[in-house]
Amino acid sequence: MDKELKVNGLTFVPYLTEDKIHQEVKRVAAEVREALPAGSSPLLLCVLNGAFMFAADFVRELGLSDAKINFVRYSSYDGTSSTGRVKEILGLNEDIEGRDIIIIEDIVDTGLTACKMIEDLKRRKPASIRFVTLLHKPDSTKTGFVPDHVAFSIPPKFIIGYGLDLDGKVRNLRDIYVIKED
Ligand code: 5GP
Repeated sequence: MDKELKVNGLTFVPYLTEDKIHQEVKRVAAEVREALPAGSSPLLLCVLNGAFMFAADFVRELGLSDAKINFVRYSSYDGTSSTGRVKEILGLNEDIEGRDIIIIEDIVDTGLTACKMIEDLKRRKPASIRFVTLLHKPDSTKTGFVPDHVAFSIPPKFIIGYGLDLDGKVRNLRDIYVIKED
C-alpha cells in the first residue's frame, strides 16, 4: 500500500487495506444471507458506478446462484419545471413486484440518494428492500437514513479507491484512501 497518493492536486493517505475490506465484505455478505427469508432468491441491484467493485466481491461472498444481478444508475438531471432537480433510477426494466430486493451501494453520505431510491422502488411493490453499503458516514446524515447492512462506518471525510472516484479517476485502487487534512 503506497504511503501517500496525489490526485488532482489533493493528497490522500491509506485508510482501509484490501485485506481489511475483504474481511468486512465477507462478514456483511454472511449477515445478509442470514437475514434473508428461507428460500429467497433476491434481485440484487448494483448501483453504478461506485459500487461495481464492492458488488463484484459481495455477490461472490453471498453465494446465491439463483439471485439475479442487475445494474442500475441513479441519474439526476434538471427538471424542466420549477420542481428543480429530479432523480430517477435507470436500467431497471424488469417487474420487481413481490421480489426481495437488495440494493448494493458504495457509500451513504447524506442519505438523500438512498431515501429517494427506496421511495422509487417501493412504488413498484417489491416484497422487501434491503440496503447494503460498503461505507456509511453516519455523522453526515441529513435524513436519518440507516442502511440495513454496513461494511464500514466512517467519519465524514472524503475517501477514494475500491470503486470510489475522484473526478472519474482512481476507481481501480485495491485499497481505500482518505483525504489528508493538514
Ligand atoms: P448521499 O446522497 O448519501 O449524500 O450521497 C451518496 C453519493 O455521494 C455516493 O453514491 C457517492 O457517489 C458520493 N459520495 C459521498 N461521499 C463520498 C466520498 O467520500 N467519496 C466519493 N468518492 N464519493 C462520495
